[in-house]
Amino acid sequence: MTLAERNQKHNWHPYTQHKTAQRPIAIVKGEGALLWDEDGKEYIDAIASWWVNPYGHSNPVIAEAIYKQLTTLEHVLFGGFTHEPAVELSEKLMAILPSNQNKLFYSDNGSTSVEIAIKVSMQYFFNQGIKKTKIIAFEDAFHGDTFGAMAASGISFFTEAFKDSLIEVVRIPVPTLGNEEASIRALTELVITNECSAFIFEPLVQGAAGMVMYKPEVLDRLIAICRENQVFTIADEVMTGFGKTGKNFACDYLTQMPDMMCISKALTGGAIPMAITSFTQEIFDGFYDDDINKALFHGHTFTANPTGCAAALASLQLLQSEKMQANIQRVHQSHLAFENKIKKHPKVATTRVLGVIFALEIKTENEETYYGSFRNKLYNFFIENGVIIRPVGNIVYILPPYVMTENQLNKVYSKIEEVLDFI
Ligand SMILES: *Cc1c(COP(=O)(O)O)cnc(C)c1O
Repeated sequence: MTLAERNQKHNWHPYTQHKTAQRPIAIVKGEGALLWDEDGKEYIDAIASWWVNPYGHSNPVIAEAIYKQLTTLEHVLFGGFTHEPAVELSEKLMAILPSNQNKLFYSDNGSTSVEIAIKVSMQYFFNQGIKKTKIIAFEDAFHGDTFGAMAASGISFFTEAFKDSLIEVVRIPVPTLGNEEASIRALTELVITNECSAFIFEPLVQGAAGMVMYKPEVLDRLIAICRENQVFTIADEVMTGFGKTGKNFACDYLTQMPDMMCISKALTGGAIPMAITSFTQEIFDGFYDDDINKALFHGHTFTANPTGCAAALASLQLLQSEKMQANIQRVHQSHLAFENKIKKHPKVATTRVLGVIFALEIKTENEETYYGSFRNKLYNFFIENGVIIRPVGNIVYILPPYVMTENQLNKVYSKIEEVLDFI
């Protein structure tokens, strides 16, 4: 039996209708931007395996750091104990996070980092005897799949079955070009009700919605409105963090600073699941008290796992190297050149680029659904041609590992051009 056949027996895959989906492809090896399946077929990973892997698969620097850590101290509980990798990682992150950030809370994945931010927002006010239980979020947002994160997410078919069991979230329009004033107006009306503890957003790019982009200037205004009305701001940088937008964080494009930040995905270069929620000192102080009931009673077994921290430290070192920064710029320039070439194609509705993110919307007669047949046709074309791209409806996007070579990038671009003629 092949690996793919054996897999069918016991494994339940994410976002998968097993009755109609094709059998998952069994990958046996990864290196740089490439993956190989069990039949030896090569794939270019044009989405960095769901945006986690900027420095290339099986990166030797990260592997070495993990091995060293595993043979020194693989894990110790973070309740009542600490260790060098967590202390050092926190120090290193402080140097690149927005200057108002001062305390870090470790967890396991993007969803937990969002849960923690939401719980902290609500408890901060609860600790002062203030009732603020609603959260503000954008339409079509994605913040994860656990209950709090799911409530904040706005892609309805993900959350339909649970909609009566979620915390209360109020939505404002995404301030894309032309919708800025509507977004600002909606937020202004919500913050004055004094019922909202926080506004959570994916800064500048909504990943899961299909790389929907908006400008830093309008986000600055939204954050300022929240600040003036004692509503915390939570920048969910799980997707955008660590160079994807061309800067370390999307928030680096802003003049305002968020009160909290969620980071995960590229944090460990795709090696180990880990996440961090970062906070201002003011927020931390809202829990600092002689009364134990005012503490944040939240934790995960693997909080600040030393091996994960070691992988994150190695990843940071890679990100900050001249070579990686040059790669980010190179990929960005290539995207701009390709955008220029493709945007006049009769089947292209819109294109957009930020940092290493490229997205293209294909003109269609009908509105295409997230996982519909049009999307499947696109997906299958790319897979058959050895390129891993997961279109969102009629949106095709690339978010490559920064180490993807020009040759590999050009192959991805040419497959996108081909799919436009094929579809
Ligand atoms: C992926 C993602 C999450 C959820 O992260 P998981 O690790 O899948 O739980 C949250 N927010 C954003 C912006 C994401 O892209």
